Formats: sequence, C-alpha cells, structure tokens
Amino acid sequence: MSFWTLGLVNQNIAIVGCGPGGLASALLLARQGHHVTLFERFSEPKPLGSGLLIQPSGQQILQSLGLLENIKQRSCPVHQLHGLSVSNNRRALDMKYGHARIPVSALGIHRASLFGVLMDAVQEMRIPIETNRELTGVTEKKASIQPVFATDIEGDQFDMLIDASGARSPLATGRLRKLSYGAFWATVDMPGSHEIMPNALDQRYWHASKMAGIMPVGTNPATGNQGAAIFWSEKPENAAGVIDAGIERFREHYCELWPEAEPFVRQIGSMDELTMAVYDHRTGQAQTSYRLYHVGDSWHCTSPQLGQGANMALIDAAALAKAVERTSSLKDVRKIYRRLRSFHIKLYQSLSVIFTPLYQSNSRALPLIRDLVIHYFARWPLVRNFITHTVSGVLGFRRF
Ligand SMILES: Cc1cc2nc3c(=O)[nH]c(=O)nc-3n(C[C@H](O)[C@H](O)[C@H](O)COP(=O)(O)OP(=O)(O)OC[C@H]3O[C@@H](n4cnc5c(N)ncnc54)[C@H](O)[C@@H]3O)c2cc1C
Repeated sequence: MSFWTLGLVNQNIAIVGCGPGGLASALLLARQGHHVTLFERFSEPKPLGSGLLIQPSGQQILQSLGLLENIKQRSCPVHQLHGLSVSNNRRALDMKYGHARIPVSALGIHRASLFGVLMDAVQEMRIPIETNRELTGVTEKKASIQPVFATDIEGDQFDMLIDASGARSPLATGRLRKLSYGAFWATVDMPGSHEIMPNALDQRYWHASKMAGIMPVGTNPATGNQGAAIFWSEKPENAAGVIDAGIERFREHYCELWPEAEPFVRQIGSMDELTMAVYDHRTGQAQTSYRLYHVGDSWHCTSPQLGQGANMALIDAAALAKAVERTSSLKDVRKIYRRLRSFHIKLYQSLSVIFTPLYQSNSRALPLIRDLVIHYFARWPLVRNFITHTVSGVLGFRRF
C-alpha cells in the first residue's frame, strides 16, 4: 500500500453551495468513498449569470473528473483576448494563448452549461442534495460540526463542512470590499454574419470608465444555437438609471462605443434580459477550524478581469480532495490544503488588485499607461509569456 492511500476514510462531509466549487468538491470526495451531502439555498440549484472562461488550469481539473470532453461539446475555444482603446485607437489588450506555448486555449462557456455538466455527474453518483437550506452559521463540537440554516433548521452532525457558498458566504473571513464597477450581462445568439473577431474575447474601452465586451460561449442554453455573452461595465449606483432609461438608450450607448457590435446588441429585446453583476474583493482564510474549509469565492473573490474565479474554485476543490486523500489526520488536511493553494491564490488576488484599475476605474492616467507602456512592453517575449501564463491561470500553479 502506498503512503498516499493512507487518507481519511468514510468521512461524513457537508458541502454548502452548488456552484462550480461545491459540485466539483462533491464529485471528488464522493469518488474517494466519503458520504457527501450537498446543501443549497435555492429551492432548485441554478446557475446565475452569463458566460465565463474556463482556463487551461481549470480544464485540467475537469479532465481529471472525466468531464472535459462533455464541456468541450458545449463550449467554444477562445484563442485570444483582445481589447481596443477607442479613445486613442490603441490595443489595450492583446493576448494569444499560443504565445506561451501553452497547448490549449481557454473555453468560453455559458454558466448553465458548466453547471449542467457538473450537476449531471453529481446526480449520476446519487449524491444527495438538500435544497431550501440557507446556511447562516455552524455549531462546532469536539468531534463534529453541524450546519445551522435559516428558518432554524438544524442540520445533522458531520466530520467536515466545506463552505462553497460563494462571495457572500456567512462564514467567510476577511474584509469584503465592494468594487466600484460591476457589469450588465446578457446572452444572445451568434449572428449569421458579423465583424467581431472569431474565437476571441473582444472588448472596447473608453479610457477605463466604459468597457463593452463580447465572448463566444458555445451553446446558448435558451435557444440551442451558438451563443455569445455580451457585457457592459457600469457602476452599481448607476444601474437603476440605466434600467429606467430603457433598452433603446442602452443599445445606443453600446453601439456608440462599438458600432460593429450592433448585430449582437439588437437581439436584446428589453432591459429584463440583462443582469447586473456586482463584484467584490476579499481574501479570507482557507479554514477556520479542522472541520471547516472554504473553497472558491467563499475563500477568495475578486473582479472577473483576469477570468479566473470558476477555475480557482475548481482547483481549490481538487486540492482539498487531494489533501483529504493524502493524510489520515484532519489536522494535517489544513496544512496540505494551504500548501497546495495559498501561494497561487495570493498571487492572483494581488495581480487582480494591480490590473483591475487599468481596465475598470475612473482614472485617466492608468488607462494611458495601459495603452502606451503595457501595449509596448507586451511585445517583448518575456512580458508576453508572463501575461499569457497569468491569464491561463498557470502562473505559480502548484501541480498536485
Ligand atoms: C459577471 C461575472 C463574470 C465572471 N467571469 C468569470 C470568468 O470568465 N472566468 C471565471 O473563472 N470566473 C468568472 N467569474 C467568477 C466566477 O463566477 C466565480 O468565481 C465562481 O462562480 C465561484 O464559484 P463558487 O463555487 O465558489 O461560488 P458560486 O458560483 O458563487 O456558487 C455559490 C453557490 O452557493 C449557493 N449559496 C450562496 N449562499 C448560500 C447560503 N448561505 N446557503 C446555502 N447556499 C448558498 C449559491 O446559490 C450558489 O449555488 C465571474 C463572475 C461574475 C459575477
């Protein structure tokens, strides 16, 4: 028997939250033979929002779960991230996955498709899901942990509780900072003919105060056709005014910045089809006791500028499962989990703090630096490699 097979056995594990982090954790731990129960606040687990990028780092985890081929069928390869600064007609972002000899591109996918693939696998394994369970706290005893839910429902006793309840987790530690920009998102069909770059996440900027973007997402779950996610940055405090001004005004604003986007934007029939997403930044602790662990946004959340959130949640899930597999002591799980994840997370949280204001802020100086300096240096192979590795999610990534 190898050393690594001496892991914890037959643990009774509660996982709160049916996002990518919770579903992947459930699959990985159930496959190790643990008794897993998922809890979700909604009456039916459902994904919120539009598209996201699955980076090469996240694809490795989906591959190990045996789900990557299924994901590929529902997604669209994204070979390039491109952005044009309309105020000076310079490239503000130009990153090709091929630049760093990373053999895979990202996959643009609708959240519902990622959710669907993970949920089908959870149901196939008959992992129980208890819905209408909104976690409000936990009660810890020496030998167990018990979730406490709204409406005073007490959960059973568990050996471990994994908090995968996202950025607004009631158990998260660390100060939550609301970011000054959020975005309106919608999903539309890919038009029959258009002049937007194919297989790319393409964006247009007005300094850093306006940003419009389009990204292919593979199958549009609403229509079954090839789809695209559209987004438009906005300050949360202005969202109500944008909604009141109506869809005509929204389309006008969008197409003033990016006329070629018209075949996409014209498909949005009313403001009800757009969802406003707000972003938070927080880096908390991976665990707060030997029995309570955080994965994904409940540990660390940030702006989506680097496109890493879902990937990070998948990697956390795999690292925590690996830690549980590697040791027979709950106390050691936290050491291994932290060792596998802390550096990568701190690095990306810091990079997000540095890069987000270049693309989303009121500053006039920062976007100028972006367009002049970064644009110039990004042609240097070393800088180009750094950018490509960063966006691919593999910078500082500790394989396990
Ligand atoms: C607009 C937008 C664009 C993004 N783009 C990208 C991208 O391109 N690439 C990328 O990788 N990431 C992106 N992200 C980030 C990504 O969506 C998140 O980082 C990722 O979903 C985190 O996964 P998670 O499983 O930790 O949490 P979540 O996906 O937030 O899932 C949390 C789950 O917990 C449930 N829940 C919440 N509170 C409770 C409670 N109290 N009790 C019980 N259940 C609860 C929720 O209903 C949900 O099912 C984006 C985010 C936004 C908002």
